[in-house]
Amino acid sequence: MNIGFLKTLFREKKLSLSHPRLLIYQELSNASSPLSPLEIYQNLLKKKKRVGLTSIYRSLELFESLGMVFKIAYGSSVRYKLCELENHHHHIVCKACGNVVELNFCDISDWSKKVTESTGYQVVDHQLNFYGFCKSCKPRTGGIQETEF
Ligand SMILES: [Zn+2]
Ligand SMILES: [Zn+2]
Ligand SMILES: [Zn+2]
Repeated sequence: MNIGFLKTLFREKKLSLSHPRLLIYQELSNASSPLSPLEIYQNLLKKKKRVGLTSIYRSLELFESLGMVFKIAYGSSVRYKLCELENHHHHIVCKACGNVVELNFCDISDWSKKVTESTGYQVVDHQLNFYGFCKSCKPRTGGIQETEF
């Protein structure tokens, strides 16, 4: 999500893009891996920018409600990743290292239809996360047999 899209989004939602919110967005945007609220706080402090931890938590909650970030509860910690995809999408989380990849497809219309058929609800939204092991964490099974083969 680039800064232009962010500004448009905030304008559309009639939200103010305050300086602390912008700083938090920039930290997430520069990060190579998901960040915890405390890491964002410490990164900002290193740059001589003091944003209260409470305000960081609130901003992250707001970002999440806007679909800007993906929240990863990993063990006892919570981390946030800035979404690169701007439209509706899904994520897969590595259960070993916590890395996240965004999935640029969503094909569950059959499923929505089944939900409507069985409940009578009109489906307007859904959330779905995938979990697994990334390429570097994938447990190697039967390695010896593979080399012999
Ligand atoms: Zn995302
Ligand atoms: Zn992994
Ligand atoms: Zn979807």
